[in-house]
Amino acid sequence: MDVTTKALVLRATDYKESDKLILLYSLEYGKITVHAKGIRKGNAKLKFAADQFCFGQYELSKIDDRFTLKTCEQMESFFSLREDVFAYYAACTVAESVMEFTEEGQSEPQVFVEALRALTCLTDGTEPTLVALRFLLGFLRLEGYPLQLSNCIVCGAESEKLFLDRQCGGLVCDSCRSADCTRVTLRTLAACKMVQDMPYDKLKNIDFTQELLKDALRFCSKYISFNHYPLKSLSELLAL
Ligand SMILES: [Zn+2]
Repeated sequence: MDVTTKALVLRATDYKESDKLILLYSLEYGKITVHAKGIRKGNAKLKFAADQFCFGQYELSKIDDRFTLKTCEQMESFFSLREDVFAYYAACTVAESVMEFTEEGQSEPQVFVEALRALTCLTDGTEPTLVALRFLLGFLRLEGYPLQLSNCIVCGAESEKLFLDRQCGGLVCDSCRSADCTRVTLRTLAACKMVQDMPYDKLKNIDFTQELLKDALRFCSKYISFNHYPLKSLSELLAL
């Protein structure tokens, strides 16, 4: 059976002598692995279809749960993301989050739209750390791990003095915290609250310092590693 889907390349790996296995994030099927035959040959016309962040209309042959690339019409290459190291690692953070958190074969249109919005925003020259922060806060909520930024996740009390607690896997108040926790500053919490529901096209108006953005991203990164495991691309972005 032939199927057509809009999809974004998350990753591609060499396979056999001249093939690739492309991990696509598709609108209709979620995360799928697609076998692209002969795509590494010198004259292969569809080489671009395996480039990281290539977004296009993919025509695939589907037999049981196996997909093979037939053709692709590129809609956006997002090529400029590979020319700026900050934008690149922010884009990789988006791709890695989708790769690690979403289920194979499960369509999540909202995640698909958010990922595309984030990449588009990065190509528009919006501060990459800010885009990464906005994406992660929205994505965590969509995936069922929302960061509760105002209340203690143990007793529910509203508090400004909150701690990120490894044992509880989230923000807790002074009374509920264990020894293994770090205080989250008011500035960091305020920055996250401001960004989390902001439309991507409005991010340009935000003027946070790099230091504040990195503090907020570090906080997200820790939260993710407490509940899951660390995102490598995010660590790279924070180390720049
Ligand atoms: Zn509490």
